[in-house]
Amino acid sequence: MGVTICFSFGGGTNHPLSDRAYWDEHMRDSLHMPNGGAAVLVNILCLSGGRLAETESQKRMMVYIAEQNQNERGLGNIVLDIDRLPWDREHFAEDKALMLRVIEGARQKLGWETLDYTPNEEFAMSYLDDFQKLIERMTEADIKDEYMTQWLNECEPDQPPKCGFPLCEKHHAYISLFGCQVCTD
Ligand SMILES: [Zn+2]
Repeated sequence: MGVTICFSFGGGTNHPLSDRAYWDEHMRDSLHMPNGGAAVLVNILCLSGGRLAETESQKRMMVYIAEQNQNERGLGNIVLDIDRLPWDREHFAEDKALMLRVIEGARQKLGWETLDYTPNEEFAMSYLDDFQKLIERMTEADIKDEYMTQWLNECEPDQPPKCGFPLCEKHHAYISLFGCQVCTD
């Protein structure tokens, strides 16, 4: 099993599996990793993002990432595909730059001192490199507004990201409706 992170979620009904050119492009630069590796990637992004996100749309991105919690969603059952992130068209350029800073922050091990374990650095760095390639491909034209709208509509008013942006006291990571991803991993 494991987790695959790709650029674009699904692909839609317009692209049957026989459409090789589409799928080759769709899966280009995909990141394949074991479930535990995906949990580490999500954790270190949450630790870095908890220290770097400043605006509402940036904090929303980090809450979405913190929701990719395999304890709650099931092993392997996370969706970190790039165009599924809650990109806000109005702040796209700043938010993409922030995501790249979050990746760089994770490389610099921002917040790692709060972890009860030491991530395998070689794997973590290679996941970050691959994740960065996918983020770099994102353009404003790739934003699917309905993804963010649907995600926000499904959040209750007392749940992140609608109840302010609470941070975990121990990890300084944004909390999702599943709690702190780093605590619960
Ligand atoms: Zn925590």
